[in-house]
Amino acid sequence: MPLLDIQDLNVYYGGIRALSHLSIHVDAGEIISIIGANGAGKSTLMLTITGDKKPQSGTIRFEGNALPAESYKIVQRGISLVPEGRRIFPGLTVYENLMTGAYIRNDKAGIQKDMEEVFSLFPRLKERIKQHGGSLSGGEQQMLALGRALLARPKLLLLDEPSLGLAPIVIDELFDKLVEINKSRGLTMIMVEQNAYVALDIAHRSYVLSTGEIVMEGTGQELLEEEGLMESYLGTKEHDSED
Ligand code: ATP
Repeated sequence: MPLLDIQDLNVYYGGIRALSHLSIHVDAGEIISIIGANGAGKSTLMLTITGDKKPQSGTIRFEGNALPAESYKIVQRGISLVPEGRRIFPGLTVYENLMTGAYIRNDKAGIQKDMEEVFSLFPRLKERIKQHGGSLSGGEQQMLALGRALLARPKLLLLDEPSLGLAPIVIDELFDKLVEINKSRGLTMIMVEQNAYVALDIAHRSYVLSTGEIVMEGTGQELLEEEGLMESYLGTKEHDSED
């Protein structure tokens, strides 16, 4: 049984269909990437899984069951999102930002233990524990957003464009951490990305999303061997980079 099983999902904004007959599955322990250009529907998919956008039709099953309607109950069931643009609280300290991730929990000892684990993964956050979130660099803010999501102790971690706006060296560092977290804890991840090369590189399997539809699925290697894939669906040429 897949950890997450989405079947025939249709999502609209008014008359605009943002996701069309979308079906994907994610097995426990996998890193899945969903790659697509601007406006392909990536954020809509994330918002639909987290309960922030209601689908017109289709099913989302998590551990074999339908998800509750309320977002906070979905977090309690074990799905946590690192949103596009990080969305950390600039006026709160690093510690306070991390604690907002634990709002659904009341096991103080467990929260403290997970906080220590986040600090061992990201020692720079510990060094800046009393600093305001808004004073951190882009890469540090992304680590903070990731740490905050981990403090909800998720079974499934969703990442919306984690590489956006980061320098290549910072992206490498961040993605190494994602692989480390996946390997050490077996944490399942779905990442949506415009930066196809980094996303295909670390994922076990990937889907290509184009104007709301899944048009291809495969391993990173299989997709990279698809002639014209990047140009057709992602509007990039091989080895093009934003930087
Ligand atoms: P980006 O990388 O630019 O964020 P995306 O792949 O995440 O793109 P979505 O933001 O999910 O794409 O958008 C999918 C489609 O839905 C687009 O056509 C977009 O214009 C439309 N859309 C998204 N949000 C809204 C909204 N609040 N109201 C109306 N249309 C929307």
